[in-house]
Amino acid sequence: LMQIYRPLNFIGFVYRELRQGLTDIEEMFKLLDQNPEIEDKPDAQPLAITGPVIRFDNVTFHYDEERPILKGVSFEVPAGKTVAIVGPTGAGKSTISRLLYRFYDVTGGSITIDGQDLRDVTQSSLRSAIGMVPQDTVLFNDTIGYNIQYGRPGASDEEVRAAAAMAQVGPFIEALPRAYDTPVGERGLKLSGGEKQRVAIARTILKAPSILILDEATSALDTKTERDIQSALDVVSKNRTTVVIAHRLSTVVNADEILVLRDGVVAERGNHVALLAHDGLYAQMWSRQREATEAEEKLLETANDP
Ligand code: ATP
Repeated sequence: LMQIYRPLNFIGFVYRELRQGLTDIEEMFKLLDQNPEIEDKPDAQPLAITGPVIRFDNVTFHYDEERPILKGVSFEVPAGKTVAIVGPTGAGKSTISRLLYRFYDVTGGSITIDGQDLRDVTQSSLRSAIGMVPQDTVLFNDTIGYNIQYGRPGASDEEVRAAAAMAQVGPFIEALPRAYDTPVGERGLKLSGGEKQRVAIARTILKAPSILILDEATSALDTKTERDIQSALDVVSKNRTTVVIAHRLSTVVNADEILVLRDGVVAERGNHVALLAHDGLYAQMWSRQREATEAEEKLLETANDP
């Protein structure tokens, strides 16, 4: 009965909040972000961070019991380093980021940050330590300035501008007639995928979390946008323990370690040079990506020829 009651109770709660005129969309997101199955233990402690070092120890996970997604994944992200996860679509890459944010609990093994099991710490302390830049950022129906400031409510206009500059989105915003006061979101200016991702990066720069999870957008970006995003990411991931679900060569080449995930296990690991030399799945993936990029560039050249 609890299984039926819990979700119903949750929906009722959301409904009541709406009825009470809680129109603040970000609060709604906070509510919807919660998986009601995940609860703090009665004796949960705030996460204490020194490094932070992230460890996945023989992690197994499934959404549905018949279909295992992760089948014993182990890796460590040393303090301040970047680990990139690559692999075919559906391999379970984003699942790893969801487990780290504790949207779900592992079904076997453990995930620790500085030796503390995620299941033993409070969710609020965990989530305030992590900055998440998702594939597709949801923008609030408010000004672009507000959307950046959301990373740290109370940040000054100057801090917002500095974060936007570091995220390579400052000049774009300042060229808009109403600059930081420009309304965005469904009812305002529509931003491209690349612009939205840079707004999310600016937000994260303000939040200044000790851990960063980055889910790169798969969509193709032009060379300049890709370069701008890469330099924004370099700023935000510097000296932060970073896990990146990587789709672009530029991100992967710079990672301290790359994990190639396939069929729920880490099939290959190493840095870019070592993995190319290994001449396995990774080497195949990148030669295919390079061929595709070269073909695209040729096409553009032909199109530009008079
Ligand atoms: P992509 O590169 O396409 O984003 P991915 O490697 O990030 O893929 P995941 O999003 O981690 O893959 O998904 C792994 C598998 O789990 C997929 O087969 C997906 O269909 C399944 N899956 C994801 N979310 C859920 C869910 N909430 N319930 C059930 N199955 C899910």
